[in-house]
Amino acid sequence: MEDMNRTLHYVDKSISSDIAKQKQVEEQNEKYRLIAENTTDLISLIEVDGSFQYTSPSFETQLNYNLSTIGQLNFFDMVHPDDQVVVNKEIRIFCKKKKTVRHIEIRIRDNKGDYIDIEASFSVIDKSTFSKNDLILVVMRDIRFRKIFEQKIYHLAFHDTLTNLPNRRSFMNEFNRELIDRKNRASSSKMSVLFIDLDNFKSINDQWGHDVGDQVLIEAARIIKDTIRPSDLVGRVGGDEFIVLFKDIKDEEDLKQYVNQILTKFNTPISISGQEYFITCSIGVATYPNDGDTSRELIKNADDALYNVKNKGKNHYLLFNSKIKSESLERRLLESALRNAIKEEQFYLEYQPKLNISTKQLIGMEALVRWKHPELGTIPPGKFITLAEETGLIVPLGEWILRESCRQMKEWQENGYQSLVISVNVSIRQLEDPHFIKTVEKILKEIDLDPKWLEIEVTESVFMDVNDAASVLEEIRQLGIQISIDDFGTGYSSLSYLKHLPIDTLKVDASFIKDIHVNEESRAIVKSVLTLATTLGLNVIAEGIETQEHVNELNKDGLIFGQGFYFSKPLNSQAFEEFLLREVNV
Ligand code: C2E
Ligand code: MG
Ligand code: MG
Repeated sequence: MEDMNRTLHYVDKSISSDIAKQKQVEEQNEKYRLIAENTTDLISLIEVDGSFQYTSPSFETQLNYNLSTIGQLNFFDMVHPDDQVVVNKEIRIFCKKKKTVRHIEIRIRDNKGDYIDIEASFSVIDKSTFSKNDLILVVMRDIRFRKIFEQKIYHLAFHDTLTNLPNRRSFMNEFNRELIDRKNRASSSKMSVLFIDLDNFKSINDQWGHDVGDQVLIEAARIIKDTIRPSDLVGRVGGDEFIVLFKDIKDEEDLKQYVNQILTKFNTPISISGQEYFITCSIGVATYPNDGDTSRELIKNADDALYNVKNKGKNHYLLFNSKIKSESLERRLLESALRNAIKEEQFYLEYQPKLNISTKQLIGMEALVRWKHPELGTIPPGKFITLAEETGLIVPLGEWILRESCRQMKEWQENGYQSLVISVNVSIRQLEDPHFIKTVEKILKEIDLDPKWLEIEVTESVFMDVNDAASVLEEIRQLGIQISIDDFGTGYSSLSYLKHLPIDTLKVDASFIKDIHVNEESRAIVKSVLTLATTLGLNVIAEGIETQEHVNELNKDGLIFGQGFYFSKPLNSQAFEEFLLREVNV
């Protein structure tokens, strides 16, 4: 009896555990069903030939298929014809290896006939209760939004947002592809790259504002695009800079004709909101294979040719040639040496005394920069300042000059030489730097120099070239610094504009002093500058005084202050100290 009970108990237990297992499986199946029925992913089981064994309801909600008739369709018929090869190949490979394939991106047709982008993964299910063949589980996900997003990012990464033209990266990619293609084909056809820069675009921006500036750029992009052939390429590579690639050029005549077409198009004014704007452009051209073998070299050479056009009067074009080549090489060597010189502090300052020419009393000095090159010796500023300005290197260099001038002045003051003003030359490019005022303030504070002992020399052209130069200079003056107009008389401006400007001193250019004793005209100019300055309450100083005759003439005209080799050449700091000891009683 006991035994029987034990057996029954065992049977009982095994039945109840079977029921529990069954229940567990059912629950599990229900969960799978819920997942399959409610997911937005497109889940299906297909035979290897593509016929459907199961499709999730999302085929109806996402693709508009009728679930009751979808069984008559074939999976492969839904795949975009261009993607069928890849799907077949992947399925064949993984059927052999019985592995899940990586995700592949394909297009699948919905019931309306539109193709949508999806990401699909396939897994093999071994022969099961459902089928005597292997089944394939296909899980697909709609990636249309991701695709649109990706396309947007791609567009942003490769296009200029303002003009919608390809940007530099995109242009370079295509340019490089073309070059490789040409080399592979050993093609003899020529290709030309054009570097185009709008002339005086800055003044359009300054005068009419950035919105008009932007419209001009959009129009310029359109003009270039409309002028070149559809097979050619144009990209925007900088503010007002465009590059064009002429993919097939017969000969130089052919090239010149295309380039001229662009220049001619720009000779008609651009119309924006009923207003007409005149803008021309300059073009530098380099041709493959003659002017270079790589995209970088060709673009660099086109840029050098453009630089020459800009220097020779704009609204024109130049084809790269050997003369440009040797000049640009010199420039590049100098530029890299200059960069290095700034890093290695190869500069020093000389100081040229400024005096009262009749009493010989020292009133101050002008700081003049020198470059002590380890191999070439001392290089005068005339040889490198322009390049420093063009490359922007004048900004860090100018900051060093200003700091060193102030430091030296402070040291001399501490040694008892009071009441002397130090003059520092400042380039237009420095005044355009938005941090300039802050830098000056910082230096004065750091060195603890009273601003009244500092004078800044700027050339007359500052008023033509710097947007709102007067207000920048006014700010400098507000700090207590004096302002002198250097090389006065050589600029284009009329004298009458002076009264509106924030300046303290006119420095008459050396060219008028040089022949003042023999040339009536020079004398008349110096005289009229003096008269004008007196009425406006400005100081006048003459530069380039070389002889006693110059001094005599200037004295006659009542000019008081001067500077020049006659009194002293620019001196290094040690020599200037000896000059101070000799000439100035502390
Ligand atoms: P600048 O400011 O007009 O300087 C006067 C130039 O005339 C200096 O040439 C000076 O050495 C030279 N000079 C002085 N007295 C006489 C004279 O009696 N006869 C002759 N023939 N020349 C005389 P330097 O030092 O070669 O400078 C040339 C130009 O380079 C300067 O003209 C100035 O525009 C620029 N420069 C010099 N130093 C600096 C600097 O620190 N910063 C900037 N931005 N420019 C500088
Ligand atoms: Mg000067
Ligand atoms: Mg000067």
